[in-house]
Order: sequence, then C-alpha cells, then structure tokens
Amino acid sequence: MTGELHEECGVFGVWNVDNAANLAYYGLHALQHRGQEAAGIVCVDSDGTFTRTKGEGLVTEVFNQKNLSILNGRNSIAHVRYATAGGGGLDNVQPFLFHHHEGNFALCHNGNLVNSTALKRYLENRGTLFQSTSDSELLAHLIKVSHHRGDHRNFNEKYPMLATISSALNMLEGAFAFLVLTADAMYCMRDKYGLRPLSLGKLNDGWVVCSETCAMDTIGAEFVRDIEPGEVIVINNDGIYSSRYSGFHHHYMCAMEYVYFARPDSDIEDINVHAYRKQSGRILYHEAPVEADIVVGVPDSSLSAAMGYSEESGIPYEMGLIKNKYIGRTFIQPTQELREQGVRMKLSAVRTIVKGKRVIVIDDSIVRGTTSRRIVNLLREAGATEVHMRIASPPYAHPCYYGVDTATYEELISSRLSVEELRQKIGADSLHFLSIEGLYKSGNRCELCTACFSGNYPTSLYDNK
Ligand code: AMP
Ligand code: SF4
Repeated sequence: MTGELHEECGVFGVWNVDNAANLAYYGLHALQHRGQEAAGIVCVDSDGTFTRTKGEGLVTEVFNQKNLSILNGRNSIAHVRYATAGGGGLDNVQPFLFHHHEGNFALCHNGNLVNSTALKRYLENRGTLFQSTSDSELLAHLIKVSHHRGDHRNFNEKYPMLATISSALNMLEGAFAFLVLTADAMYCMRDKYGLRPLSLGKLNDGWVVCSETCAMDTIGAEFVRDIEPGEVIVINNDGIYSSRYSGFHHHYMCAMEYVYFARPDSDIEDINVHAYRKQSGRILYHEAPVEADIVVGVPDSSLSAAMGYSEESGIPYEMGLIKNKYIGRTFIQPTQELREQGVRMKLSAVRTIVKGKRVIVIDDSIVRGTTSRRIVNLLREAGATEVHMRIASPPYAHPCYYGVDTATYEELISSRLSVEELRQKIGADSLHFLSIEGLYKSGNRCELCTACFSGNYPTSLYDNK
C-alpha cells in the first residue's frame, strides 16, 4: 500500500426513521467535504430486502429522485469517498453489500488499516476472493471467518453478530469508523486509538450515526454522544446497546480533523472545530507575531484561524483572498500539474484590499507547497508590499497511514526542506508554523494524533513504512 494515496471519507447511518434514503442523501450532502469522488446509499426494509444506489461523482450527481425512490425501508447506511490514486472505480465505491445464507449485510468505512496486506494474505490463503482493492472489505470477510471459527457461540441472542464483529475488530489495526447494517440491527464502531470521529444522535424514535455532527444538524437530529474508541454500539428496534471489543483505548483523534478536514460547525469530541481553529490562530500570534496592516485567511478552512490571529493581534481581518465556490478542493486532482491548475482556478486576490499593504496570510497547513507558493504570488501580483505566511499547524513532514490523502515522504515538502528553505521556495517575507504544543493547547487536549507532524505514530505500522 506504500506510495498510494488513501482516502478520507464520511459515513452516515440512520435507524428507524421515515424516508431513510432521503435522510441519508441529506446527510451525505452535509458530509460532502469529506469525499467528492463517489457516494453510495444502502437501505434495508422490514422484509430484510437490501437495495443500493452508488456511483462516482458528487452526491448531487450520483443520486436523483428515481434512483433514491428504489431504496426502501427505515434503515440505511451511506458513504462519501475521497479521491484515491490507486483504488478508483465503481468496485471500490461503498457501502459494500454482501450476500450470505445467514443474512445479507452492508458495510462502510472511514479510515485506513495498517495491517491490511497481512490480513488480505491470510484471507486469500483461506479462499477469500476480494471484490475491491479497498481495505474496507476486510472486515466483512473477517466477520465470516470468526463465525466459522465458532465465535458466534458466545453470542447474545438479541445481537447475533456482536461476538463475531468484536473478534473481527480485534484483528484490525489502524484507523476506522465502521457501520454494518443487517436486517435486524446497525453496528457502529470506532478504532481503539480513537483516530477517526463517529457521533451518535437521536431523531424522533430513531437514531443517527455520522462522521461529523454537521450532518445531524442538517437533518434536525439531536446530538447524543460520540461513539467511544474501542466501542461497538448496536442499534435495533429495542434501542441501543453498548459493548467494548477492546479494553485498550485512547483518544488519539486525528489533529487534521480539527486543522483542515472537518466542517467548522461540527463538534468533535466535545470541541467545536471553528473554536479550535480560532484558538490555534490566537496561539499562533503569540508564537509568531509580526507587524503588518491586515490579516487574511485562505478560504475556507483557514478563516477561523485568521480570525483568531486578528483578534489576538489587534490587526484588522480583511477579505484579501476570494475562493471560487464552485470548484472542489485542489487536492482532489491527483497529479501535480492538475493540482497547480486547480489552485489557479480556485483563488483570487482582492487587489483594492491588499494593494500597498503588509499582509499576514494564514493557511491551515502546507502539504506539497503548491498552494502557498501560488498564494504568495497572487498577493504580490495584487500589490502587497510584504507577505508574512503563518500556518495554523506544524510542518507536515510524515506520511499519514490512517486514511488521509498524503502519500510518501518525497511529496511532503516539509520532509525535504527546513522552514527557512521553504520560506525561500514559496517567496514569503517570513514563514512560521504553529508548534505541536500549540496544537494540543488549541483544543485543551492531552491526547491527539500528531504523527504527520511529529513522526510519532500511535499504532504499529506493519508493512507500511
Ligand atoms: P499543498 O498545496 O499541497 O501544500 O496543499 C495545502 C492545502 O491543501 C492546505 O491549504 C489545506 O487547506 C489543504 N490540505 C491540507 N491537507 C490536505 C489533505 N490531506 N487533503 C486535502 N487537502 C489538504
Ligand atoms: Fe491525522 Fe496526521 Fe494522524 Fe493522519 S497522521 S491521522 S492526518 S493527525
């Protein structure tokens, strides 16, 4: 798997609601920022019949009234997926649907497993044939292997798959938020390290589970709590039942969720994303103050941090950069050449605002360095007299193996260049990054995954390194 780009995704599930498919559609729409390559919805009705619609593209492109109307039932799981360099194609679009004589089931996943190569080999040697090249399918096969081994004999009659799912989860290493939908129940689980988010909400007599709370707000559901690391929640018509598949658990939430991925209106582990970013901007000011005329945020993910920097410094916040709203994120184009074009299409500097000004420009992160070089150029072309770049996260110098779209050390500019070399390369008058300590302090957190900044990975990496 080394060298491939992995996906960041969004999952959404509802149990016992009217028009489950329509709610899933709205839920996915709210999670669209987590994946723009593909989307899918599976529903199951009271007879246990599963129906599915999936396809490549944005949520509004994949679904229409006709293909949503074939999805019947009050229970559903759904998925949006990010671009991958290696594993595109319809076969990899989730949710996956499995047919089995003991009962069909569907599954979807956000995250990335680090021991998938070894697990695939183990399963293939036992005769498994994979439908996709995605890691996510592994859980389904492991559930069935646990079943054959007899793990289901410890089962709780009300939740027939709980024992086999729990023993399958104990074989997985890495980052995940999984949803499994059967005719009788929905199983929702998070990895024991707490790397990926998953929240639970209530909607009338039904339940909602989703990667980010913004999807609950969209459909009018009420937040109940986060699923805990190492926990499996089973939802059926009797309510919810919580179980732990692992005694080990930590809260190493992905720092990049706060820095970049999540929507500012989402709360992750009780911390609002906008508030987190704003605080990171305040701390960034104390760590790297500079005299200037205006503070400008790179839209959209850096606006909160720029507000914090501006408020703390007393330097006015200005709209010096504008984003064309109708272009997707630059990262979705997989080649460097296309990515550079994407940045040109995406951002423009507001000449009358930046002309003759000393500008502090705040961005959330530098990954490959393309965006920042372009932004500094844009601001200078528009007449800025000085451009000071401040980054609301530490240098991104190590690849992520937990489902985030960064691949190899070579692609990460901070793994090759010092801060001063990078400053020269992007052409800024000064460049500073938030410290790792500042990242923790922004959300008052004592645990966080900061592996892409520090190189300290919370899990073993197996064959990935
Ligand atoms: P780059 O041009 O590669 O340095 O891209 C950095 C920009 O992409 C930042 O301004 C972020 O807003 C955004 N970004 C950071 N990390 C990611 C990621 N893993 N996937 C997509 N976009 C990202
Ligand atoms: Fe998130 Fe970075 Fe950890 Fe990956 S390595 S899970 S991007 S914090």
